[in-house]
Amino acid sequence: MALIVQKYGGTSMGSTERIGNVARRVAKWHAAGHRVVVVPSAMAGETNRLLGLAREINPHPDPRELDMIAATGEQVSVGLLAIALKTIGVDAISYAGWQVAVNTDRAYTKARIVSIDDSKVRADLDAGRVVIVTGFQGVDDFGHVTTLGRGGSDTSAVAMAAALGADECLIFTDVDGVYTTDPRVVPAARRLEKVTFEEMLEMASLGSKVLQIRAVEFAGKYKVKTRVLSSLTPPDLPVEIEANSGTLITFEEDQDMEQAVISGIAFNRDEAKITVTQVPDRPGIAYQILGPIAEANIDVDMIIQNQSVDGTTDFSFTVPHQELQHALGVMNNKVKEAIGAGEIIGDPNIAKVSVVGIGMRSHVGLASLMFRTLWEEGINIQMISTSEIKISVVIEDKYMELAVRALHKAFGLDQPAEGVATGLAVGG
Ligand code: ADP
Ligand code: ASP
Ligand code: MG
Repeated sequence: MALIVQKYGGTSMGSTERIGNVARRVAKWHAAGHRVVVVPSAMAGETNRLLGLAREINPHPDPRELDMIAATGEQVSVGLLAIALKTIGVDAISYAGWQVAVNTDRAYTKARIVSIDDSKVRADLDAGRVVIVTGFQGVDDFGHVTTLGRGGSDTSAVAMAAALGADECLIFTDVDGVYTTDPRVVPAARRLEKVTFEEMLEMASLGSKVLQIRAVEFAGKYKVKTRVLSSLTPPDLPVEIEANSGTLITFEEDQDMEQAVISGIAFNRDEAKITVTQVPDRPGIAYQILGPIAEANIDVDMIIQNQSVDGTTDFSFTVPHQELQHALGVMNNKVKEAIGAGEIIGDPNIAKVSVVGIGMRSHVGLASLMFRTLWEEGINIQMISTSEIKISVVIEDKYMELAVRALHKAFGLDQPAEGVATGLAVGG
């Protein structure tokens, strides 16, 4: 008998019929003798609808009130699922985040979970019930409702699994696992049997929305055994088969020796680029440009600056798309004159494409293969950044899908996994 946390995403909860299927799936695990905690998302499209209502009234609504509104989507889901389970004879109880309580900090719309009180959940499990807890939401120390950022139900589930010391966290979604890249963009993408925690962390941070990054962070920190699998298979699929399906997130030491060099390709259209031209090349300039951006609470991702030959240089960096106007305002009002720069240019039409794999540590030539592939497709690289296990480039957004497909092929990801480890021409 195991303690299992199961998360169901928006598509999986997308209609009353699908909620009925979720109930049958949960009932099956419960009947097999497992203790089950379920963390559902709002029904597909519901969070967008709710946020849209708020923005119809005010394009920049108060974040506390936004959370009050957005959190209701998950509250409907838990109630409907509890009714569906009771209807088929399974004892179940639903809770909102504040009832549990899932305690968070006060950062409305992007709150972080600080602690979870598991006493109620444990008592219900001991009483033989299925416990259903809202995804995406928590409560701060003033008792205000908070939400965890888009896609945050993944984090709710993994954090709940960590708090309960669950045997496994199953993330049920509308794809049957983690793929080499988004299968909606590259039909040749392949499902990975396993992916290391570090690779998953990079992929999530670089834009693969299959798991929210904080969920992966929790899984790593608390060593939560986490699996991504499909909720769209027949709900009566035998538990033993379902339990081994999808993609398991592993910790490096569990990995087979024969690890693919590159595991996946991530992409992200959510950033915009700012270029400051004719920046005087002297100590303190990076701080004078990025200090005011940090003070304005704007995240900066990639940064590029070259040394100058003639005393001035261009300085570029990327910010979240929705912060572009804000960041341009800061640059024009606080930075341009202060440092005596030329122009401030904003470019919303960029995309970041990244190849990820822990095999990069031991293989050379991967960057050159990436750059050659993009050159062969006639795609210009605007920025580059690397870490131990990833290489990212910024390109014009209209070439993003082309770049992802070409790289997927060039890195041998179209082929079955065995071919990747041995068949990839690296280093030359
Ligand atoms: P849910 O509502 O279940 O949380 P999401 O839409 O948040 O589902 O995440 C699942 C989606 O993530 C898939 O439908 C797929 O389009 C997308 N995705 C992006 N990158 C990947 C990847 N590498 N592997 C699998 N799915 C991916
Ligand atoms: N319902 C929330 C969202 O749409 C949380 C989630 O689905 O994970 O972002
Ligand atoms: Mg999601």
